[in-house]
Amino acid sequence: GGTLYVVATPIGNLQDLSERAVNVLSSVSLVAAEDTRHSGRLLQHLGLSKPMLALHDHNERDRVARILAELEAGRDIALVSDAGTPLISDPGYLVVREVRGAGYRVSPVPGACAMIAALSAAGLPTDRFLFAGFLPAKRSGRRAALSDLRAQTATLVFYESPHRILDFVQDLVEEFSSGRECVLGRELTKTFETFYSGSAGEVLGQLQDDAHGTRGEFVVMVRGAPPSDEAAATALDADRLLALLIAELP
Ligand code: SAM
Repeated sequence: GGTLYVVATPIGNLQDLSERAVNVLSSVSLVAAEDTRHSGRLLQHLGLSKPMLALHDHNERDRVARILAELEAGRDIALVSDAGTPLISDPGYLVVREVRGAGYRVSPVPGACAMIAALSAAGLPTDRFLFAGFLPAKRSGRRAALSDLRAQTATLVFYESPHRILDFVQDLVEEFSSGRECVLGRELTKTFETFYSGSAGEVLGQLQDDAHGTRGEFVVMVRGAPPSDEAAATALDADRLLALLIAELP
């Protein structure tokens, strides 16, 4: 059977498309894309013309049968999204799961991902991070989601749209604290790439002062909470208990 290649595309700068991505895109017989017009332009830029299949969250299930039939016939397929890595806050999960489940090879062609690009340059701890993607668009849902994450000790990473970024940082100030360290990466790899960093309160001010502060695409990163005294105390108790038990063992 054929192979399904999961191909990352640029998040802004076209030079971030890897050589292997170009080779794979030129060798497959079908490109499954989130938006065929958008990805069609990328293919055109590469001088390629390929049959395309539109794939979005609402029709993924129907598309699986067609994709499986192509693979069965021995034809390779590339899965791409509008920008960055498919499946990362983008369609493709169901297709990958079903194709793998049916026993065909699924192979990644890695490349740009806004989350990883942002983390790599933010200067926040990256040994443990939690990608929370897009929080609910409505304020109440977003506040509830943030409230659940308040005590999380790993670095938090969010995606947010430009027209909600001010509300998002405002909610961070209120649900976490104005002092919680955060870094925003805006328009990464593009001409107006900007990082905003400092306490949540400071970052809110920087955004409000910047005429371009609510334009473009954003990755929001928040330093994790310090390990709580309660958790530390529990760990200590467990250690003491273990020491006592060991002392009692024959
Ligand atoms: N699959 C993509 C990836 O690998 O990063 C993410 C797709 S998601 C629908 C789009 C969101 O990713 C944007 O709202 C923004 O939060 C983030 N994003 C994408 N490109 C970006 C960029 N150049 N700079 C900052 N954030 C970006």
